Amino acid sequence: MNAIFSEGRWSSVDRVADVLNPYTGETVGHMARAGAGQAVTAARAAGRFRCEAPAHERGAVLLRTADEIQNSAEVFVRSIVEETGNTHKDAVSEVRRAVAQLRFGGEEAKRLTGESIATDVTDYTARRLAVTLPEPLGLICAITPFNRPLNQVVTKVVPAVAAGNSVIVKPSEKAPLTAGLFVRALLDSGLPPGMIALVTGDPLEVGEALVSCEYVDMVTFTGSAAVGQRIARRIGMIRSAFELGDSGALIVADDADLSAAVSAAAAGAYATAGQSCRGVKRILVQEQVADEFADMLVEATERLVVGDPRDPGTDIGTLIDEPAAIRVERRVAEAVDGGARVLAGGRRRGAQFWPTVLDHVDRGAPLVCEETFGPCAPLVRVKDLADAVDYLNAGRVGLQAGVFTQRIDDAMRAARELQVGAVIVNGGPQFESPNIPFGGVKDSGHGREGVRYAMREMTRLKTLVL
Ligand code: NAD
Repeated sequence: MNAIFSEGRWSSVDRVADVLNPYTGETVGHMARAGAGQAVTAARAAGRFRCEAPAHERGAVLLRTADEIQNSAEVFVRSIVEETGNTHKDAVSEVRRAVAQLRFGGEEAKRLTGESIATDVTDYTARRLAVTLPEPLGLICAITPFNRPLNQVVTKVVPAVAAGNSVIVKPSEKAPLTAGLFVRALLDSGLPPGMIALVTGDPLEVGEALVSCEYVDMVTFTGSAAVGQRIARRIGMIRSAFELGDSGALIVADDADLSAAVSAAAAGAYATAGQSCRGVKRILVQEQVADEFADMLVEATERLVVGDPRDPGTDIGTLIDEPAAIRVERRVAEAVDGGARVLAGGRRRGAQFWPTVLDHVDRGAPLVCEETFGPCAPLVRVKDLADAVDYLNAGRVGLQAGVFTQRIDDAMRAARELQVGAVIVNGGPQFESPNIPFGGVKDSGHGREGVRYAMREMTRLKTLVL
């Protein structure tokens, strides 16, 4: 893909970069490296476009796109696997999620509505009827990370289109190809070409140009806290949503169903080789059951197949590139220096890192205090639920947390007290569904995704008084 989609058509760009398969090292495609001027031109054109399509037509486009992606699922799966090193299994589930979001958005487009309000609530206001009318903001700039290169883009484009906005997508330069396939599917399904733009390139060039330009009405960003904060400082007064990192916690109480907790821990820590914002990044396990839990988790971990991401039998593929795997290796080594014991894994080959269980990890270790984007399951032993909650609340992040306990009072206390966007009882922080709100607190960002909630972020209310 040596082209960007701008001003309603594909235009080729002279400068390109190779996109490499992190497992084989082979070139799997090319990314157009647009310049800042080309990015601004694309934003200006998309910003001027006004969507005339009624809600049922916008919804129908999303539904047809869902069918199109489902019918060519293998093409999307291959693209995801090749450009990220995510496994075939993970890519199949990513495509399924993308299709579900499109279907849900196809319906939600028809439900966008305001409310009627009686105004006679004080002795000085007349009896009138006020009606709120949600209006699209205009141009949404969607900046997305590498880890799920289809679903991250779909999560932003679906609510933007459902609510009648135009959208300019800037996917990650580390995995830009699948976004191109998705934009083609939208256009083939009848999306008005002026409503979408796709610009790829070096983030400091195209990313900065887009977030600083006058044509963008909202920036919706998913990525690291460092980049999110940099963008937040630049954009000034316009609407924004930031979905940033976490060090997602799973709390395992002494009365937990241990086999269910182990399944949630392994699924949450190792999916997409641990490169997931809502993955399990630390397991706070109560002393009394820690040894048994650790043994069971080691057993589950050692069953996993590390290998060629293209093979449908592989459980753990690669990280996005070798430097990412080296960073994880260093974090593990630091934790070991601080007293942790590696019970399984701990091995690296190129961009691959073996699923790794560590026990007795120090609470202050960067492995657990900072986001570690790799397949690690570090156990931090805690005295009780209150100890776990205090430890988590003292940190700077809070996206989602899971709590395994049979005691309803403890579950409710965790739900009330944990400073996070969502608490999942007897499940892992990886829980997702397109019809619930998703987003963080503190340094994990602000704004909510989930189709209906993102549509609210992407509209403004006009009030009509009759
Ligand atoms: P990143 O922050 O490096 O990049 C994210 C996007 O920002 C990319 O498209 C990148 O090109 C762009 N970008 C980088 N610098 C920019 C700049 N100066 N101006 C404008 N755009 C710029 O993140 P990543 O490495 O691609 O992804 C991993 C991070 O994303 C992790 O921290 C992870 O937790 C986070 N993430 C969060 C969620 C969530 O929903 N909360 C989901 C997935 C990933």
